[in-house]
Amino acid sequence: MVDPPAPVPDTSSTVVRSAHVLRVETGRSPLPSADEITPPPRKDPVTQGSLETFREQTRAWLEEHAPKSLHNTNDVRGRADYWGGRKADAPADVRRWCAVMAERGWTAPTWPAAYGGGGLNPAQARVLDQERRRLGLPEPLIGFGLKMIGPTLLQFGDEAQKQEHIPKIIRGEIRWCQGYSEPGSGSDLASLQTRAILEEGRYVINGQKVWTSYADKSDWIFCLVRTDTTVKKQAGITFILFDMEQPGVSVRPIPLISGASPFCEVFFENARALPKNVVHEVNAGWTVAKALLQHERAWIGELFTSSITGAREELVALARQYLEAPEGPLPDAVTRDSITRVALEEQAFLLTLKRAAQRTRAAGGRPGPESSVLKAAGTELNQERRALATQIAGPAALGWEGPGFSERELDLARTWLRSRGNTIEGGTTEIQLNIIAKRVLGLPG
Ligand SMILES: Cc1cc2nc3c(=O)[nH]c(=O)nc-3n(C[C@H](O)[C@H](O)[C@H](O)COP(=O)(O)OP(=O)(O)OC[C@H]3O[C@@H](n4cnc5c(N)ncnc54)[C@H](O)[C@@H]3O)c2cc1C
Repeated sequence: MVDPPAPVPDTSSTVVRSAHVLRVETGRSPLPSADEITPPPRKDPVTQGSLETFREQTRAWLEEHAPKSLHNTNDVRGRADYWGGRKADAPADVRRWCAVMAERGWTAPTWPAAYGGGGLNPAQARVLDQERRRLGLPEPLIGFGLKMIGPTLLQFGDEAQKQEHIPKIIRGEIRWCQGYSEPGSGSDLASLQTRAILEEGRYVINGQKVWTSYADKSDWIFCLVRTDTTVKKQAGITFILFDMEQPGVSVRPIPLISGASPFCEVFFENARALPKNVVHEVNAGWTVAKALLQHERAWIGELFTSSITGAREELVALARQYLEAPEGPLPDAVTRDSITRVALEEQAFLLTLKRAAQRTRAAGGRPGPESSVLKAAGTELNQERRALATQIAGPAALGWEGPGFSERELDLARTWLRSRGNTIEGGTTEIQLNIIAKRVLGLPG
């Protein structure tokens, strides 16, 4: 979505592109090697002991408080996803699960307790995640609040903005959407035209956004607007937050060929926003926009940890079923080769992801331009896996709805088609490669 200006890193760098997984080595601040991934707590019996106590307490707490109806539902894709917000329409247990977790700050386990977060350290957060998965519980809350605007506000917001918005994100009270892309501004995001003019103590906003995912279900928007037309394009952009429920905002869903669509066009006709909701500074929104995109790309990359894990098992099981080979070597050498390649790439990607996570932790939770590596590699790899699964299942994977297909088969078609958009949202693969070339490798622009 965005091709940021290119501050050249102060380092010589090399990259080895092995299939779809990039290995990045920078002299400045290298990712830890695979050997360094294993966390060290075993050396410290106190830390290890307290972590084990934390695990026991967490396990007991989850068993007591998580609704029984949600046990073993986290592998049903999207079924128990809860995005929160004023328009949320979810079963009572899903809401209750979010509420009890939010009360402990466990919808945002590592965020500061001062704003309602869990205040956990990364090791504790991992334990919480493992124990939740052990019971097959879904994440209590997901969405752009937790993954995009929340971390950005923690980084750039002033104290009043954090106090106002972060607790509502943690409790799932407000659902957010992302107002970046415009009809003429996708990859060239900085050319955006939506105008905001300060009049009588308020910003008056006019213009249009497009491809705004879930705008029709969202309450607030984090939006890029042009506040100065006389300077170079990046320098006249402001990052502002406002409530969508007002007369100046209208949302029109964009129907897709399938009938359903998460996309919307959003029109602003004298929409209003308060100056106190400018994040960072007026005309300095480009810096905030880029930081948010790094969170978004890291998130999209991470999403593939769960969807990529287990490629070999899934693909072999599909091949056994659809190639009618219940045991022994799979009969088709090309399929065997394709599965092996995807499985190897998966392993390399997961190791890269762990190294990147360690580096992000070391940088205080702020992903750098290396998030583009995860985004590009993860989404390409996921597409390859989904396409292979569809190919193995053959005509059984071509159903969209209706009888004649199992739920698993319908899921094959949907996840394959959805994976196409992954290499576009959050900035296309070409744009990620540009960023890697300029900002990670320091190649001339
Ligand atoms: C599933 C999904 C969800 C989305 N959700 C949101 C959202 O919530 N909010 C939001 O604001 N936007 C959203 N988008 C929009 C998305 O960010 C844009 O589609 C994306 O940035 C590309 O912009 P574009 O569609 O205008 O394509 P263009 O920018 O017109 O690109 C067209 C093609 O040209 C290539 N290209 C363009 N410039 C370059 C270059 N400099 N170098 C090399 N190749 C280039 C691109 O890679 C692409 O292949 C979403 C998109 C998808 C698919």
